[in-house]
Amino acid sequence: MNESSLIEKVKKILDSKIIGDDTAPMKIGNKTLLFTNDILLEGQHFLDHFPTVHLGWKAVSVNVSDIVASGGQPKYLLVSLLLPKNKTDLVDSIYRGIAKACRYYGCQVIGGNMTASDKLGIDIFMVGEAKKFVARRGAHPKDNLYLSGPVGDSKAGLELLLMKRTVYEPFEKKLIERHLRPVVDLKLKNLIGRYATAAIDLSDGLSSDAGHLSKNSRVKLVLNAKQIPISDELKQFCIKYRHDPIGFAVGGGEDYRILFATKNRLPKTAAGLYLIGSLKQGSGLYLDKIKLANKSFDHFSSS
Ligand SMILES: [Mg+2]
Repeated sequence: MNESSLIEKVKKILDSKIIGDDTAPMKIGNKTLLFTNDILLEGQHFLDHFPTVHLGWKAVSVNVSDIVASGGQPKYLLVSLLLPKNKTDLVDSIYRGIAKACRYYGCQVIGGNMTASDKLGIDIFMVGEAKKFVARRGAHPKDNLYLSGPVGDSKAGLELLLMKRTVYEPFEKKLIERHLRPVVDLKLKNLIGRYATAAIDLSDGLSSDAGHLSKNSRVKLVLNAKQIPISDELKQFCIKYRHDPIGFAVGGGEDYRILFATKNRLPKTAAGLYLIGSLKQGSGLYLDKIKLANKSFDHFSSS
């Protein structure tokens, strides 16, 4: 069974209509609170030879990414730490990373939990606040599709880390940094709240997450290959290791950029955003004229 069919099963058991978006919005008084959680687990999201210094930062960022994609500001978090008995010294660097990220994003740890475990893991539950919740559904045919920055860098960084080299070139170090220490642009929350008809953050990869947006909004989504932003570092990487940059940009996960649809073109003042496609009547995900199969990363598939 893959992840989405497992989620469907859970929704059925719980008889839930709300499960399945980046965050769960709850109206409390006159406020809309957003709830989300995400875990980083050794062996699944990182390996034990990866430097642990950025782990706390990344664990916060991956949750912030979901809150911002829903148009919200991160506010509070609870941290569950799974800690091997022989690695208790890591508490220091992990929590320094968490504290640094909280200062950067303007949120606060208000509690948590620790447990001994075979593998290291950080599970964060985060609460955000939004003026208006933006979901994966809501995009219409003829909407424009925007992306908040270059994609594919994180996958390249991961491949470099897996090479276990002792020396890396400067552009390779930048790609590794983008994998280990993703930064979410908080300014996007205002743009999304104001203009987006639907939005999603890119955790599993552009093709996979664009597929979710298309499916949930019930529209056909067309990506223009030439408009997809690719960093100079990824271009260098693809020349050196003979890869196709578009393959990395479309298939790579963990970039934590935000993909969103808007009814009208955004004003020119919205710098750093890329118009990468459009929505049409119909269904399915296309790269130019080619239909993309949903080959997203799935924790539960064996390949
Ligand atoms: Mg998400």
